[in-house]
Amino acid sequence: MYAKSAWKKYDCEQLKKVMEFNEDYKRFLSLGKTERECVKESVKIAKDYGFKELKEFTSLKAGDKVYVTNKNKNVAVFVIGNKPLEAGLRVLGAHIDSPRLDVKQNPVYEKNNFALLDTHYYGGIKKYQWVTIPLAIYGVVCKKDGTSIDVVIGEDPTDPIVGISDLLIHLSADQMQKSAAKVIEGEDLDVTLGSMPLKDEEKDAVKANVLRILKEKYDFEEEDFLSAELEIVPAGPARDYGLDRSMVAGYGHDDRVCAFTSLRAVLDTPTCDYTTCAILVDKEEVGSIGATGAQSKWFENVVAEMINLSDSYSEIKVHHAMENTKMLSSDVSAGFDPLFAYVNDPKNSAYLGNGICFNKYTGSRGKSGANDAMPEYFAEIRKIMDENGINFQTAEIGKVDQGGGGTIAYILGNYNMNVIDAGIAVLNMHAPMEIVSKADVYEAYLAYVAFISKL
Ligand code: MN
Ligand code: MN
Repeated sequence: MYAKSAWKKYDCEQLKKVMEFNEDYKRFLSLGKTERECVKESVKIAKDYGFKELKEFTSLKAGDKVYVTNKNKNVAVFVIGNKPLEAGLRVLGAHIDSPRLDVKQNPVYEKNNFALLDTHYYGGIKKYQWVTIPLAIYGVVCKKDGTSIDVVIGEDPTDPIVGISDLLIHLSADQMQKSAAKVIEGEDLDVTLGSMPLKDEEKDAVKANVLRILKEKYDFEEEDFLSAELEIVPAGPARDYGLDRSMVAGYGHDDRVCAFTSLRAVLDTPTCDYTTCAILVDKEEVGSIGATGAQSKWFENVVAEMINLSDSYSEIKVHHAMENTKMLSSDVSAGFDPLFAYVNDPKNSAYLGNGICFNKYTGSRGKSGANDAMPEYFAEIRKIMDENGINFQTAEIGKVDQGGGGTIAYILGNYNMNVIDAGIAVLNMHAPMEIVSKADVYEAYLAYVAFISKL
């Protein structure tokens, strides 16, 4: 209720910066369709900024620019600060996985002249949104000989696309009576791969032809799907949205928009007192579990490794470093949509264009699962936001008991560090086409820079 439109404060020069920054973001979003692609692109950008991989260092000192990856699905960048790591870090944490359709282990089958690909959806989706749109296939196929093949089909304008069919309206009398949850069922999210039979093939000739194409173009066999990780995502680049070009439409703003702004904040900020860090994690959409999720010991291991390279190592120093760290859980918030105003408390909603959004807590059914940040901590942060002229707002995810959501905030909170959710408001969250305001993208970037350099 104290928030104002960020657009109104920009002069011509600032407006130009906002638009230029968003061109960089659109490029990142268009290339970063999966967590693996985001890691590749982040490493490329970090190297352009002069960052070097942790394993290249024999010791660490203030001003060193370090990046480190984990299993091709996590990346973190650090600028070593003037104070020892034991004093804590200033961390921006975002996730680079987004809802999508994952290809099953035994996926390809033929039915009624079509070759189809069976999928299992990943994260929270409205299944009916994923039919009759252009889709691309991304991922890796790992072969028994130890090699792995990168697959991208459907992104180059000369590539074919794939897709999932829906029933024609003319014959949908029964389907239209179903609830939205059932109108397209998970097991029916099968991707059309082809319809042309292989000549002289008797059985499943269409499937045989598709497998022949995969063998010729990518050199893998049907059996290699067993150890593949292929993801079906919306095809095509991010675009300007609105006649005024004030917004960006694209797949995967949740949470690549906070990932990119966090990454750039660390890359663009010179050496600070505290070590600055942006960490980009996987698996948030399915609970942050596993080796590449926020619950992984990976980040702690990296901090231990860095203490070992910068100082005399002791376990207590690692505990101190984690506990003294201050963090923003950089994740998106639900943008207020005037077409669905009834789900929000208007006083406690995130409006597109009003700047970075802080969520003191997320969760559902009585804040269950919420990190619920310390008010003492948020007081420090809003002081810095005000002192640096950054537009910010605070919000909850919808009205009480309307639903809710979670982030990685509580996981790092478990180290006894101060964490608060801070990100960008998104319309159509988890849809194949999500929307953000360019002003919010820029304000989030400025907020992240202020947080890591001033707090
Ligand atoms: Mn998210
Ligand atoms: Mn999400």
